[in-house]
Parts: sequence; C-alpha cells; structure tokens
Amino acid sequence: MFDYIVVGAGFAGSVVASQMARNFGKTVLLVDRRDHVGGNAYDHYDQSGILVHKYGPHIFHTNSRDVFEYLSKFTEWRQYEHRVRAKVDGKLVPIPINLDTVNSIYGLNLDVQDLEAYLESVAEKPAVIRTAEDVVVSRVGRDLYEKMFRGYTRKQWGLDPSELDASVTARIPVRTNRDDRYFTDTYQAMPLHGFTRMFENMLDHPNITLALGLCYRDVARCVKFREMVYTGPIDEFFDYRFGNLPYRSLQFKHETLDVERLQPVAVINYPNEHPYTRVTEFKHLSGQTHRKTSIVYEFPCNGGDPYYPVPRPENAILYKQYEALGAATPNVHFVGRLATYKYYNMDQVVGQALTLCSKLSGATRGEMIRKPAPIGSTAGAVKSEAN
Ligand code: FAD
Ligand code: UDP
Repeated sequence: MFDYIVVGAGFAGSVVASQMARNFGKTVLLVDRRDHVGGNAYDHYDQSGILVHKYGPHIFHTNSRDVFEYLSKFTEWRQYEHRVRAKVDGKLVPIPINLDTVNSIYGLNLDVQDLEAYLESVAEKPAVIRTAEDVVVSRVGRDLYEKMFRGYTRKQWGLDPSELDASVTARIPVRTNRDDRYFTDTYQAMPLHGFTRMFENMLDHPNITLALGLCYRDVARCVKFREMVYTGPIDEFFDYRFGNLPYRSLQFKHETLDVERLQPVAVINYPNEHPYTRVTEFKHLSGQTHRKTSIVYEFPCNGGDPYYPVPRPENAILYKQYEALGAATPNVHFVGRLATYKYYNMDQVVGQALTLCSKLSGATRGEMIRKPAPIGSTAGAVKSEAN
C-alpha cells in the first residue's frame, strides 16, 4: 500500500513526490508514461555529447526565494541571463523591445526620452485591455506589433492575438532603456549539471518507487494507494466529459552542426518568416564547450503532446467545469500546468506543488524548505561557469 500514487514526473509530480517522501515519511509511487523523469524540462546528452532539452529550451528564472532555495537542495547552479533576438526586416533586433530595437528597425538614434515620446505618439489606447493584441498596440503601436508580435503569435497559437487573453503577450515587457535580457527576475540560473540530474537528486529516496513508461491507469489497477496526485491533462482524467480542453503542441527538430557557434545568443525568434517560431542553440544555456553545436527548431501544431494551455475566455469557462469536478473528486489532487490548465513557468509550478504539500501535510512552506538538506545532495552555490 502506497500513501500516494503521483501521476507525472515533471516539476509538479516530482516536487510533491520528493517532499512527501523526504519530509513526511510517506511512501510514493511516481508514474510517468514517458520513459524518463523531468516532464517537459527533461534534458540529456545527444549523440555528439551536447546537453540538449528534448522538449524545447527551458530557462530557469524566478523572483521567489522559497522556490530557488528549495531547488537549490538538489542542484548547484550556473549563472545565466537569457537573451533573445528577433529577425525583423532582415536584422537581428533585441526582444523584449528596447531602445536598440526601435533604433535598429527604424534607423533612428533616439535616446530614452525620445523613445518614451515616440511610443506615446504611436500607442493605441483601447478602452479596455482585453486581448493579446490590445496589450501590445497599447504599448508600442501597430507597426511594431505587426513586425514583432502578430505573425509570431499566429504561428505559435494558430490564433490571432485578438483571440487570446492579454496575459499571453503581457509576458513580454517593453523597455525604454538598453537592457536586452529576456527576464529581469532576481534569480536567473541553470542547473549546473542539467535539469534531469536535478530531478534524479530530488527523487533519490528509498520511499519513492518510480514506474516509467506506463500510463497511471494501468498501474493504478494493480496497486493499492491512499491518495492520488495527478499532473496530467485534467480533461483526459475525466474522459473528456465536457469536451476537449485545447492544448497547443509543438514538433521539435533537433540538429547538430559542424560549427562551434551558430547564433550570437541562445534563441532567435522568427516572427515573419519560416514555419518555425524560434531556433535555440543549447551551448549558450549550458556554457558547454564543444567543437560542434546542437540546435532545435520549434514548429507549432495541433494534436501532438499537450504543451501549452490556450489562454482565452471560452477555455477558462470549460476548465472551470473540470476544476469543479476535480474539487468534488475525493482523494485526488490536481497540480501543475496541464492539470490546472495554467500557462505556468517552471517556478510557478514548483510554488504550486509546494503549496499542495503544505495542504497535504499541515506544515508551512517555510517549515518544509528550512528542513536540513537531504543526505548526498549538493548545496546551492551559484557557479559562474560550468565545470
Ligand atoms: P509536465 O512537465 O508536462 O509533466 C507532466 C507529466 O505527466 C509528463 O511527463 C507526462 O508524460 C505525464 N503524464 C501525463 N499523463 C499521464 C498519464 N496518463 N500517465 C502517466 N503519466 C502521465 N518554463 C520556464 O520556467 N522557463 C522556460 O524557459 C520554459 N520554456 C518552455 C518551453 C516549452 C517549449 C514548453 C512546452 C514549456 C516551457 N516552460 C518553461 C514551461 C515548463 O515546461 C512547465 O512549467 C513545467 O515543465 C510544467 O511541469 P508539470 O509537472 O506541470 O508538467
Ligand atoms: N511573442 C511574440 N513575439 C516574440 C516573442 C513572444 O509575439 O518574439 C508572444 C507570443 O504570443 C508568445 C508570447 O508572446 O507566445 C509569450 O512569449 P514567451 O517567449 O514567453 O513564450 P514561451 O517561451 O512560453 O513559448
């Protein structure tokens, strides 16, 4: 008899499994239908020995000290600040839009004050900011919106920005200075030896039994457990009773090239050309030195693995029906990006999972995080270079 069966070994499931086993002595059966842990954050060394992210680039960033301290029990870090360029009118320009973006696209030489005045003059002011289009045109006007957001968003989501919630493009700030970092969070770092190693450290505990390459339905038939923590798609859990919740999918094309470096930064976005949205060169993320380089192209599509919940009002209404059903289902807890249908980053999922552990155990988050580091784990020092 297990105390918990946890479905999904991504961030949500692995945090809950690890926490309940290590801090509260619970026995956990952790099941994933993939043949590895880590969920979408899984990374591995490819045929050439380059560390790559199988399901697209994952860059860790958070403002939550709790989340950073918690993960630091299981990994050392390599400091890394993410930078992205977008190909616009044949030039590589910074995204988020900043002073250099505007000067480069329009061949200008504005300073900060000039740019503020320029944006004020081109910004459109809708009465209410409701959609992903409204957010951008209200900040930077229609021309920059069309050059940098409209095409990318249509490709990424298969929908026009006017059909998506404001929250989608509100993820990307606009800056009038020259800061070209993608994120400005307090903590920005990559696990020194990769995400998968971090997950392995997290799950290395005698109370945790791993069952990989199996659907939980097959496993749950053969074992006894007290409660379930479910991190897969919530509509699938309930056999699509109210209809399918839309998820956007991606196809990944990985390549290794016989050059040491391909791109000036880790990611280049292609808002207006190619069927793919972006190309990532992994060595920027890991700091690895190697005479070859590995990259991945992301081709958005419908119908494959569910990667992105689609934030729009009708989907939120449908999710509410599933959420209510979930709340009324005894002994099953729903957590994570797919099970709560939220466009969450990794740190938000870790935070959500820690909150669930507090609820299950009665301990506060602080009490859980301040417990001594587990035996054999690495302390959370930040290293500036991978060794
Ligand atoms: P998942 O990682 O999806 O894990 C769910 C697991 O459940 C999966 O492994 C699945 O196989 C398993 N499962 C589902 N159904 C079953 C079943 N029936 N039986 C058994 N197992 C099942 N976040 C960031 O913070 N920074 C980034 O740079 C970033 N980049 C991203 C890039 C891409 C392309 C994508 C798709 C996401 C990105 N994210 C990023 C978001 C990040 O991936 C998620 O926040 C996080 O991985 C979600 O963890 P999770 O455990 O909720 O879900
Ligand atoms: N986006 C865009 N152009 C860009 C970058 C982002 O239009 O060059 C929009 C697009 O709708 C995207 C959203 O902003 O889906 C959020 O971007 P982010 O980079 O956060 O997406 P993720 O890494 O989650 O795929």
